[in-house]
Amino acid sequence: MQVKLKELQVSALSAVAKIDSLKSLEDLRIKYLGKKGELTAILSGLGGLSKEERPLIGKISNEVKSAIAAALDARWAELENQEIQQKLASESIDITLPGRRIPAGRPHVLTTTLAEIVEVFRGLGYTVADGPEIEDDFHNFEALNIPPNHPARDMHDTFYLDDGRVLRTHTSPVQIRLMEQGVLPIKAIMPGRVYRCDADTTHSPVFHQVEGLVVGENITFGDLKGTLELFLKRMFGAERRVRFRNSFFPFTEPSAEVDVECFVCGGQGCALCKNTGWIEILGSGSVDPNVFQAVNIDPEKYTGFAFGLGVERIAMLKYGIKDIRLFYASDLRFLRQF
Ligand SMILES: [Zn+2]
Repeated sequence: MQVKLKELQVSALSAVAKIDSLKSLEDLRIKYLGKKGELTAILSGLGGLSKEERPLIGKISNEVKSAIAAALDARWAELENQEIQQKLASESIDITLPGRRIPAGRPHVLTTTLAEIVEVFRGLGYTVADGPEIEDDFHNFEALNIPPNHPARDMHDTFYLDDGRVLRTHTSPVQIRLMEQGVLPIKAIMPGRVYRCDADTTHSPVFHQVEGLVVGENITFGDLKGTLELFLKRMFGAERRVRFRNSFFPFTEPSAEVDVECFVCGGQGCALCKNTGWIEILGSGSVDPNVFQAVNIDPEKYTGFAFGLGVERIAMLKYGIKDIRLFYASDLRFLRQF
């Protein structure tokens, strides 16, 4: 029995040394030291021993048991430590790596174009006025010398609300609201969103306009020409020629459309200017006396001029953008170019 115990110790110790996981180590503990384990099996034959032999075998079996238990505990601690080290190594963070760059946002190209336009007029002493985007018929049409059934209404492709009001088709109603306040002289621009039921590569159901209005005593068509010429040279280059063409708008008389010399071909003729050498930029004119009467301003005493332009159109011309829908598609590949 003594020999069996010693053999058990040797085989147990060599088995423990070969174990490389905590789970198999636990299995081994049960195999040797458990209630149905090998040591218990040997000790079950203890009853057949003489009185003299028993204490000796008891002593040896205790020594074997503690030797195996000690080996198991030592291996357990070793494996546990290994496991922690492995975990630490696999989960470590390399703080010497450079950080990830967070992309910075930038203003939308329409925002910068509008800001550029506003900046020129601020420099000329203009204030910036604002008004509602849902308008009544009076402010959007009637006060602007566009009575019911006037053919000019057809050109506006208006969105109507159920109660008869409209989504403003131009920023001109802000001019009416400004003049209604009766504080003269007026020298203001009105940037804002406008709405028309129209959509293709150059038309969007919602787009941006900037209009300008000057009202006072002795305001002439010459003031209009000088102002717009200066504005266009600021926007498109000091060397650009500007021309005024006779036109018609219900709310101005006389009216003029304003062209700037083509900034692609310099007037030689190209695809952008359709071989004319000129690009149509804005509409303008002297305020029609009928408009003054609608807002109780004396047309005998006061005169003025107004103009309007599309922000999208300016940006498209300036940057060679072919499709207006690109402005609203939120495509970063497009937006990052500006
Ligand atoms: Zn051209």
